[in-house]
Parts: sequence; structure tokens; C-alpha cells
Amino acid sequence: MDIQNTLKTPLKGKCHCGQIEFELSCNLTDLKRCNCSHCRRKGFVMTTVKLNEFKLVSGDKFLKIYQWNTKIAKHYFCKNCGVNTHHQRRSKPDEYGVNVGCLEGFKMNWIENIKYTEGTKFSLEDKSKMDASVFEG
Ligand SMILES: [Zn+2]
Repeated sequence: MDIQNTLKTPLKGKCHCGQIEFELSCNLTDLKRCNCSHCRRKGFVMTTVKLNEFKLVSGDKFLKIYQWNTKIAKHYFCKNCGVNTHHQRRSKPDEYGVNVGCLEGFKMNWIENIKYTEGTKFSLEDKSKMDASVFEG
């Protein structure tokens, strides 16, 4: 399955209620799941985009940001439907991870085999008291 050639850029995405709409001017790349304390609760697969490849089309007023720990990463979600659309990474602030489940035309069976990255290993906390509580935060 060649995902790259299946979806045309700009890729269009939106939250569940449709208030937040965005476009990605790039192909899907670097798909990953993360096992950090936040991502494991959300459970979605992310594609990687540069900040300037992400364009918010509508829904500015509905976007909320969740932050914790170092408060560097920004986890965006819709305050109406609660769906996490994207986040600005702590480890690479010039990138967003974007929830592929929000993308128009995306088939979830394309990502059955995506492995978990060890988000917990990038923790800023002392490993000796590691409780998998931080990564992108
Ligand atoms: Zn929404």
C-alpha cells in the first residue's frame, strides 16, 4: 500500500465536529505512535510536518492548548468535540505531529503495523524515578 500516492496534497483534515479545519502541504511521513503518558491515552498515529506545512483553515476560536510538565510542547484540541488534531513537539519544536485519523480519505488499516516509539525514553525526568509521566511535555 503506497499511502504517499493515494492522498493528494494539500491533505485536508478536521476535528470530529468540523469546527477545526486544516491543510498539510506535504506528504505523509515519519508515521508514529508514541507510548508516553499523554499519547498512550490518546492512542492515535501521527504524521510529521514542519510548522510552515500546516495551515489552519478555520476554527481558531475552538482550538485549545494542553500543556504540562515543561510546558514546551503544545497539544492542540477542539474545545467542542475534544479531538486532538495536532501538537508542537518538545523534542523538535519546528515540527507538528498531526493526528492521521483527522485526515480526509485516510484509511485506518494503513497503520495497523505502525510501531510505538519509546517516548518515555526521551523523558526529561530522572530515569530512576521514571513513571512514564513525561515526554513531549
Ligand atoms: Zn471539534
